Amino acid sequence: MLKLCVLASSSKGNATFVRIGNDSFLIDAGISTRKMKKLLNEIGEKITDLKGIILSHEHHDHITGMKTLSQRYGLKCWLTYDTFQKIRRKTGNIDAEFIEVGEDFEVGEEVVITPYEIHHDAVDPVAFIIKTHEEDVPLVGYLNDCGTINSYLEDGFRNVKVLIIEANHSFDLLLQSSYPNYLKQRILGAKGHLSNWSAAEFIMKTTPQIAVLSHLSEENNTPEVALTEIESVLNYRNEELKTFLVVVPSKGRSALIKTYNK
Ligand SMILES: [Zn+2]
Ligand SMILES: [Zn+2]
Repeated sequence: MLKLCVLASSSKGNATFVRIGNDSFLIDAGISTRKMKKLLNEIGEKITDLKGIILSHEHHDHITGMKTLSQRYGLKCWLTYDTFQKIRRKTGNIDAEFIEVGEDFEVGEEVVITPYEIHHDAVDPVAFIIKTHEEDVPLVGYLNDCGTINSYLEDGFRNVKVLIIEANHSFDLLLQSSYPNYLKQRILGAKGHLSNWSAAEFIMKTTPQIAVLSHLSEENNTPEVALTEIESVLNYRNEELKTFLVVVPSKGRSALIKTYNK
């Protein structure tokens, strides 16, 4: 059984809950512990059952809750060595286990995770593919805070069951926005964030069963615009594609997703 909920997803905070069988864990922990408790409670889960946190990169919207989760609740954190060096001043001592791009690591009894290299303005950002020991099919793919997609990521994420993908901005809304030019350049740059169109392109190439659109900009995107822009690309480019789209509002959690055939 796979149970998944994007608890928070925006530049103000990111955290995703995943349970596979008996093993539950977080991807990123960018919200307060109080908020985390409340959201987990809403989906029938609790912090004390978590095996730990897998961390994508060091930006504040991904690590806000880590210090408390690690020090008060003793949660382990899987992260790269360079990311650990970046966050240790803020988090203090944490129970860290170092991960590397391309090296599988285990969470709990069943879960096997592969980190993938991505391009973003962080020291060593990664995406994740989550599988189980039993089956080699990718169950969950997590790709957020990423400036560019490429064939290495497309190959790794192909046929993933549930894809959590950044749909940060509408290209048109960003261009029209009041953001200063340097910020527009940063967001659009190779180490920035994925647009709705890039997300659509990635969905088309990887053909997930469910795509969860996340990390929406409050200024330069809306759930409606993201769905419309992505659907228009998918409908135009691939009429056979049967991906179910879920969008996470920038204020609030996603729907609770459960699948039973692993
Ligand atoms: Zn972020
Ligand atoms: Zn970031």
